[in-house]
Amino acid sequence: MQLHLSTWPEIEAYLASSKAILIPIGSTEQHGPNGLLGTDALCPEVIARRAGDEAGFLVGPTFNVGQAQHHMAFAGTITLRPTTMIAAMVDWAASLARHGFERIYWLNGHGGNVNTINAAFAEIYHGISFDRAGANHPPLVCKLRNWWELSHVMDVCRQLFPVGEGQHATPSEVSVTYFAYPQAQKRVDMSPKIAPLGPILDAEDYRRRFPDGRIGSDPSQANVAAGEKIVAAAVKAVIAEFQQFASS
Ligand SMILES: [Zn+2]
Repeated sequence: MQLHLSTWPEIEAYLASSKAILIPIGSTEQHGPNGLLGTDALCPEVIARRAGDEAGFLVGPTFNVGQAQHHMAFAGTITLRPTTMIAAMVDWAASLARHGFERIYWLNGHGGNVNTINAAFAEIYHGISFDRAGANHPPLVCKLRNWWELSHVMDVCRQLFPVGEGQHATPSEVSVTYFAYPQAQKRVDMSPKIAPLGPILDAEDYRRRFPDGRIGSDPSQANVAAGEKIVAAAVKAVIAEFQQFASS
């Protein structure tokens, strides 16, 4: 069940039986020569929508632009200032809470978002507590989960790509997007085969160190069959975790 494909009476009916919603959250940023700009938003979205359909829970619109400042030397990247992202997340949560949602599970696709998401949670909770004494009853609870940290998912990824998984533009995440959008696959020869590793400073420095955008990875290994396996493991795990969170 997806919020943007539902009507208001359907959401009102859903709220009679569940106060929990899942929001995919990611980033729009370069993902190397063969990875889609939407990779970090598409991965949690694909996993969430399948999980929501299978288990009958509600999935909200994808929050698809995040913290991508260090990718800004590559065309197509879009980023939000941390304060903008926090403000937007606060308003999304306040809107949902206004309708009666009490549990918001944010399935994240971008490591660079983690600090800002946690800051947004603190801002959300402050807003509720400052509103009036006792306003946080029943409480609004937010949960953050990075999709690759779902139970068993990294085991599957390591098994599929023992070499060249790397840190950015990984064959695992690119495989998930190729499984979801096979028509968007790109075949590109990588040079060097496995990208270098190193620190990330600012945007220009990133491009100097990692000229094609990858960090430590060989995403030319990405394929539809691998994406299917990763998504299956993630869907199973997110259903179990979401249901537990919804009833907590
Ligand atoms: Zn990514």
